[in-house]
Amino acid sequence: MNQALLRQIPKMDLLLDHPLLADLCQRTSRAAVKAAIQETLQQLRRDIADGSVRSVPDPEQLCRQILSGADTGCHLRRVINATGVVLHTNLGRAPLSPEAADNLSRIARGYCNLEYDLDRGCRGSRYDHVEELICRLTGAEAAMVVNNNAGAVFLMLNTLARGKNVAISRGELVEIGGSFRVPEIMEQSGARLVEVGTTNKTHPRDYEAAMEEKGATVLLKVHTSNFAIIGFTESVPVDTLSRIARAHEGLTLYDLGSCFQFPCEYLGLHEGESAAQALSAGADVVCFSGDKLMGSAQAGILAGRKALIDQIRRNHLTRMLRIDKLSLAALEIALRDSLDPQTAIRKIPTLRMLAMTREDCRTQAQDLCRQLCGLGFAAEVIDTDDEVGGGSLPGLRLPSAAAAVSCDFLTASALEKVLRSQEMPIISHIQKDRVLLSPRTFCEGDLQQIVSVFAALSQKEADSR
Ligand SMILES: *Cc1c(COP(=O)(O)O)cnc(C)c1O
Repeated sequence: MNQALLRQIPKMDLLLDHPLLADLCQRTSRAAVKAAIQETLQQLRRDIADGSVRSVPDPEQLCRQILSGADTGCHLRRVINATGVVLHTNLGRAPLSPEAADNLSRIARGYCNLEYDLDRGCRGSRYDHVEELICRLTGAEAAMVVNNNAGAVFLMLNTLARGKNVAISRGELVEIGGSFRVPEIMEQSGARLVEVGTTNKTHPRDYEAAMEEKGATVLLKVHTSNFAIIGFTESVPVDTLSRIARAHEGLTLYDLGSCFQFPCEYLGLHEGESAAQALSAGADVVCFSGDKLMGSAQAGILAGRKALIDQIRRNHLTRMLRIDKLSLAALEIALRDSLDPQTAIRKIPTLRMLAMTREDCRTQAQDLCRQLCGLGFAAEVIDTDDEVGGGSLPGLRLPSAAAAVSCDFLTASALEKVLRSQEMPIISHIQKDRVLLSPRTFCEGDLQQIVSVFAALSQKEADSR
């Protein structure tokens, strides 16, 4: 460890009484500023220890660092996703469009008619705001929205399948995101699981047998999301499933997990079923996430036959899973944008990212490389494959390009760490001793932000020489 550097770190009291921080002490508290200084100094010690910092910033620089970090002082922070994983669950899945974020902020700043009927001047329902939009998008008779899709699946089963035998293919008894396990959700909802078929193949006759011989009255289909079975596989499409269910006076429920609001061909993709397709194929109720391919706020959307949706609404457990006004504010904008596929792809960040071609990625990666080379870094464009993420469209590779960056004064892992410890952290992957920055997942202004971080890095290195 570099003892000489560690000794150069300014004393706490010197920083705490620094004129630059006086205002912050006034605005917050001396204790809060002390904690912020402590954190900054500890980070500095760690950075010196692992060699990622080789000169100690002067007290003024440190104060500015603390000031900029104290902008929000929040633990939950905006980060730059340079991983190329579009629906990165660890990074908050879908970023909102500027319009959706503006609407959310507008609603947040005051009161709203969340449960107030403006025409009649009396109590209204929070479920009314987006029902018509969802019905227009999916062709459903009725719809409602809850906190997330896990909640939607639970409510759907708890309301429509409690105490009933529910047939599901063994190939669809999946675990999603580590904590959502289909068999366990079914059990907790009070539905009785009737497994049919095998892991790789399930036939129509398996469902028929479940209804005729094992007393199943509900057929459940679950999109396998983060899991693909390849080779000799067979699953029963929802139109066949619903035909079997109808013939036995049963229900077909479908957890789509992640789905586009329009035929996926618009994005040049050939996978995935939309809610509209599933409903027109005969599903009685479908549910899906608001913040996967829909590209909006966290939400679980339920759509289907009116009598069934009404029943779900009346379930007391709905109260525990209700959607909040901020998600609703963002969701309404995304639903409106989704009415027209071209508008959706232009406006919804997730869809715009998915629609990027390798050529689009290359153009941005080239721009980034040019600027980074200008700052003295080694950077070149390489072809990569990005992922959709979020347990959507497994196995689908998005042909992409990224900037592969290295420098002579930091190892790839030290560089990755420096990027990650910025005020606006940059999250990247390492490949073959280089840091990969994938432009597919950049949001507005991210590219320039990355360049300015590298500029500061090269300046700091020059100063320390
Ligand atoms: C993602 C997913 C869920 C859970 O949805 P959340 O919105 O994360 O709660 C449930 N079922 C399927 C099939 C999924 O893909």
